[in-house]
Amino acid sequence: MAAAPEKRSSEERKPKRVSNGAQASQGQWGRAWEVDWFSLASILFLLTFAPLIVYYFVLSCHQYQCSLTSPLAELLLGNTRLSHLWDTTPALTHKAAAIYVLWVTLQVILYAFVPDFCHKFIPGYVGGVQEGAVTPAGAVNKYEINGLQAWIITHVLWFANAYYFHWFSPTIIFDNWIPLLWCANILGYAVSTFAMIKAYFFPTNARDCKFTGNFFYDYMMGIEFNPRIGKWFDFKLFFNGRPGIVAWTLINLSYAAKQQELYGQVTNSMILVNVLQGIYVLDYFWNEAWYLKTIDICHDHFGWYLGWGDCVWLPYLYTLQGLYLVYHPVQLGTTNAVGILILGLVGYYIFRATNHQKDLFRRTDGNCKIWGKKPEYIECSYLSVDGTKYYSKLMTSGFWGWARHFNYTGDLMGSLAYCLACGFAHILPYFYIVYMTILLTHRCIRDEHRCFSKYGEDWKRYTAKVPYRLIPGIF
Ligand code: NDP
Repeated sequence: MAAAPEKRSSEERKPKRVSNGAQASQGQWGRAWEVDWFSLASILFLLTFAPLIVYYFVLSCHQYQCSLTSPLAELLLGNTRLSHLWDTTPALTHKAAAIYVLWVTLQVILYAFVPDFCHKFIPGYVGGVQEGAVTPAGAVNKYEINGLQAWIITHVLWFANAYYFHWFSPTIIFDNWIPLLWCANILGYAVSTFAMIKAYFFPTNARDCKFTGNFFYDYMMGIEFNPRIGKWFDFKLFFNGRPGIVAWTLINLSYAAKQQELYGQVTNSMILVNVLQGIYVLDYFWNEAWYLKTIDICHDHFGWYLGWGDCVWLPYLYTLQGLYLVYHPVQLGTTNAVGILILGLVGYYIFRATNHQKDLFRRTDGNCKIWGKKPEYIECSYLSVDGTKYYSKLMTSGFWGWARHFNYTGDLMGSLAYCLACGFAHILPYFYIVYMTILLTHRCIRDEHRCFSKYGEDWKRYTAKVPYRLIPGIF
């Protein structure tokens, strides 16, 4: 069990002055220590409604041709009852359970037992054993980066089956979509609950645990920073990338196969969604080592938010466009298709270039060129839990001089492109852009709050130099 965590945490909460005059203090940066009523209300809302939202979306497609308003209208008009909707929803099946167990087992094997060989022959790819960022307790974890390899092997198996072995139909995911939802939920809740119990009884690093004393907050936002089983099985890296993100492209392929089966062709909108989201997924795995330095891995603790979110929310709601196109096969005119492709590619370019600029800047400690010039930056410092002082730099050149989160802006442009590919007949495919806007705006504010706690006055100097968050001159 974690050694008297509450006692230690209250000790750590005492602010200590840092030499730059900032208000940063030991253990203050990272997830919150105290829960205000608004956070608690939001968490209770999400814990209750997020699973229902996923169910509602999937149900709308399954029974109402992806009309989001129809189930609610039918209920309000008395044309149907909740019990009827529930009774007509496909239940968990042995077949879905078997598919899901095989799927997760395959991903565990590829993650934990197949060391990366891609970095040995793909030029420029960073894989194999890599180090993560410094944790609040001052630890530096090692990770086996082999996501690209897992993605390639999984997709080779998928295509080998589709074109050669024919063990199962490529529409298998679509055909079992709702029974698989129950399996994903079981795993999502099981892993989040296990992570909570583990944090109390056998944490990987007790100094990197945060206990707020509020059960719901701790369950949702996590207690352990980097829960692991053994030396290498890292919960955050595994659940963040696989099974959810490896599945993303397979789910889209299954939707395309279903279109082929139902209509005898795959529409250009389905191809666009497959290609644009495929680029995003491949980008994730190509840059998996870089993702070790992103907020999910180096700031968030592992709780229901990541555990359930990666198992259920991501595979079910990030793939809504493809699901919608199975029910509504949109064939875009050439101008619209090209316009959407350009929007998606420009968004992707901004997203990648912005992320790359920060990565290059941080890796070289500022000794690099950004847009052909030496980057400008603000020097800053912070303390870890054990009181060690660290120095860092915040870049103010390139896209990071335009706005503090221009990478999110590019991400949002790409997200809008996926939605536009579905036309304007229904609002369901637009959920993604609404959700991403909320997620990334909230993330922006959350990150800035954390950065202020971490860097204090240095952060204020940075925001004075780069005053906008997402869109220069506007927000
Ligand atoms: P960022 O990559 O923007 O990382 C933010 C961190 O970078 C800050 O906490 C700070 O960390 C550091 N930083 C901030 N400003 C500067 C600067 N000017 N110079 C140098 N370092 C700086 O955020 P995320 O980790 O959230 O996102 C990574 C990518 O993942 C984004 O492109 C985002 O769009 C994408 N994403 C996608 C999601 C999806 O669901 N599709 C969800 C979340 C993210 P430090 O403490 O090191 O200073």
